[in-house]
Amino acid sequence: MAERAEFAYLGGEMASQEIEELASALARLPGLGPRSARRAVLHLMKKRQTALEPLLTALQRVSERLSVCSTCGNVDTSDPCGICRDPRRDDRLLCVVEEVADLWALDRSRLFPGRYHILGGRLSALEGVRPEDLTIDSLVNRVSAGGIDEVVLAMNATLEGQTTAHYLAERLENFPIRLTQLAHGLPVGGELDYLDEGTLAQALRARRPVS
Ligand SMILES: [Zn+2]
Repeated sequence: MAERAEFAYLGGEMASQEIEELASALARLPGLGPRSARRAVLHLMKKRQTALEPLLTALQRVSERLSVCSTCGNVDTSDPCGICRDPRRDDRLLCVVEEVADLWALDRSRLFPGRYHILGGRLSALEGVRPEDLTIDSLVNRVSAGGIDEVVLAMNATLEGQTTAHYLAERLENFPIRLTQLAHGLPVGGELDYLDEGTLAQALRARRPVS
């Protein structure tokens, strides 16, 4: 009953069922365990006006408007997403990534002025992920529609990421485009989402033709 005793700080009463549910919902989020979830709950309750209510409003808005972009696969509150709609981006440059988190990581570096395509994973014999399980056909369609000069394959520096890049290079080899990939100053086994922005920016700047 150690957890209940801790909740006694919330105001004299034992934490209610509702509060316990909030804590366990938060504890299931990536990067949060039970302990940090309880701390977050305490914080939210202490700062109702400045933390709890803005969070509630933000969650509600996102929940109501959440959608997957039918062009690139990004998650956003509109379809097409903000990146696909942004007129300042260069249509001739397309960066292919495995997951939404990779797009966000790359875009934080602010060095890539083009558009994106999210595969929704990587090829994996082990996990039974086949080309048709990814958005490869829609990538090929985007490229065959024309207007793209360069496709940057920004797969993770993992075995499966590189296998995926090779497969994509084959599928795209007959199009009149420049095919490049991130320079692997990327740590071996490295996942884009975990890299600092400097490393990522360097890898993007030094991208090289797919051999
Ligand atoms: Zn999009």
